[in-house]
Amino acid sequence: MSFRVGLGTDVHRLDSGLPLVLGGVSIEHTQGLVGHSDADIVLHAITDALLGAVGLGDIGEWFPDTDPQWKGAASEKFVEAAVEKLTSLGWRVVNLDCIIHAQQPKLLPYKEAIRANLARLLRVEENRVNVKAKTGEKVGPVGRQEAMEATVVVLVEQT
Ligand code: MG
Repeated sequence: MSFRVGLGTDVHRLDSGLPLVLGGVSIEHTQGLVGHSDADIVLHAITDALLGAVGLGDIGEWFPDTDPQWKGAASEKFVEAAVEKLTSLGWRVVNLDCIIHAQQPKLLPYKEAIRANLARLLRVEENRVNVKAKTGEKVGPVGRQEAMEATVVVLVEQT
């Protein structure tokens, strides 16, 4: 059996009065992430991890932020396209683990919804997906609430 591992990270700046979407789930907060698409750091990092696992480059090559068709796009489209590509090449997700780095708000009430949504997008059972949240300990861009970051690792297998 053939396995590959993929790694993804993403960071976006926070600003007031923008919607906040993490893992495709709307989060109640006073700030949102700035970006060309909906700036969903979790889904961007997942897309990069999936593409990386099978040697297909990165999200910037597939969905350039200079392309008007991705302006304001729901980032689920990026994950769906990556999963579709992997599936067509005979790969499927074994498991995915992710960390959301956010000082505020508390993400505990949202973690199960994010997990369920990620499992749906990745076409796997929920027990193959894990979502972790960490604060920035009030230091650095995350801790000062200037940005949020996501870190993702994924394992895929040849079907
Ligand atoms: Mg991004």
